[in-house]
Amino acid sequence: MSSGIGDSTSAVHERLRRLPAVSRVLELLGKHPAASGVSLEVMTDLVRRELETHRRAVLAGGEPPDAGEIAQAVVDRLGLLFEPPLRPVINATGVILHTNLGRAPLSEETIAAMVQAARGYTNLEYDLEAGERGSRHVHAAAILREVTGAEDALVVNNNAGAVLLVLTALAQGREVIVSRGQAVEIGGGVRIPEILAQSGARLREVGTTNRTYIHDYAAAINENTALILRVHCSNFRLIGFVHETPLEELVALGKERGIPVLDDLGSGSLLDTSQFGLAREPMVQESVRAGAALVCFSGDKLLGGPQAGIIVGRAVLVERLRRHPLTRALRPDKVTIAGLVATLQHYRRGDAVARVPVWRMIATPLEHLQARAERWRQELAGRAPQLHCEVVPGQSAVGGGSLPGETLPTALLSVQIPGRDPAELARALRLGRPPIVARVERDRLLLDPRTVFPEDDPVVVEALARL
Ligand SMILES: *Cc1c(COP(=O)(O)O)cnc(C)c1O
Repeated sequence: MSSGIGDSTSAVHERLRRLPAVSRVLELLGKHPAASGVSLEVMTDLVRRELETHRRAVLAGGEPPDAGEIAQAVVDRLGLLFEPPLRPVINATGVILHTNLGRAPLSEETIAAMVQAARGYTNLEYDLEAGERGSRHVHAAAILREVTGAEDALVVNNNAGAVLLVLTALAQGREVIVSRGQAVEIGGGVRIPEILAQSGARLREVGTTNRTYIHDYAAAINENTALILRVHCSNFRLIGFVHETPLEELVALGKERGIPVLDDLGSGSLLDTSQFGLAREPMVQESVRAGAALVCFSGDKLLGGPQAGIIVGRAVLVERLRRHPLTRALRPDKVTIAGLVATLQHYRRGDAVARVPVWRMIATPLEHLQARAERWRQELAGRAPQLHCEVVPGQSAVGGGSLPGETLPTALLSVQIPGRDPAELARALRLGRPPIVARVERDRLLLDPRTVFPEDDPVVVEALARL
């Protein structure tokens, strides 16, 4: 059937010829407001790519689009050139440190400091007094010494990096003793044994999953032991027949045998969480006071600052870390340093609970949350009779690798629409502008005002009314 093939080949050629010319599409786009500000070179490239896609579709038997369709497809793609992929999201889940939603929102002072550092030049590595090169590591160290009581401090990109740096610098080729109950996965698939392997240190597991005693550690020490590592179980809780060796006992053993103790707190807190009706998250100052040689924790968990890994502890050890080549690969940028210091200054001034959003959310009284949920309900009763709204008691979580299983009593707005799947309502909220992330539980859509900024209340009501 060679003639048939010939026919179809010429038909394809004919259809390919009907694909619009690049110049024709560019002409249409020239008048489109979305294309203003985009160079001709980039526009031409976008049109060519779009045409190429259609050329392949035509070869596969498709019909050629006209110039208007190609122009519209290019306009649709132009969003990528202007719209940031990270969009502000309203967090109505009640999980304060939501890792998937970017963990800690920052204080206004922190944001201002970061914007200022981003905008221009700064004395990041410049000693203004001497007029010569300085160190980026001095800026946060001073205030970290003050708020934690440690001799010295170093900041890297995140806490996983901090643990990797300490293990690499102090234990490469040697042994690190870890309780079996603490050789855990710390989230995002990152596991303590894997970080250890990456550092070139050897894991020496002691004890059992549920019980590890000081004599287990003592029996494992040998001439190859570099460190004792304690890892705070930040995302799960062991209950029942459990024994964790207290830090004080590890420090005493370490002192006796000349082995430094690294305390990975994960979140670490500078404030006492028990004053808010929560369990006590281990405090950084306490670990320092108890004599841990090094303590590391995250910048964007309960500290409430930008992503960072903070290491505080004995000056000789911090100095060794500072000089290690890996520190260069993990160093924070000027924006992070500016933001972290601004966040730490809240603790130094004593206004962290009032100014740091994470603490403000934790400290919000239940009556305020009830009043806001009730206001949402009332406004919706007037505007959106299709919604069945109710204010119900519920629980908010701190989240983000701190206080596992601990919750704060809250008031939730429960939303139902007869005949509509709550998962579908949640999806509609997620795809709105701005996206709102809510919870679905037992056939209801639940929104927690604790993690919604009060200035966003009208946006939430508006989005719900449109459901
Ligand atoms: C969260 C956590 C880490 C990792 O901290 P990042 O800042 O996310 O890198 C390490 N250790 C523990 C115990 C944690 O909870």
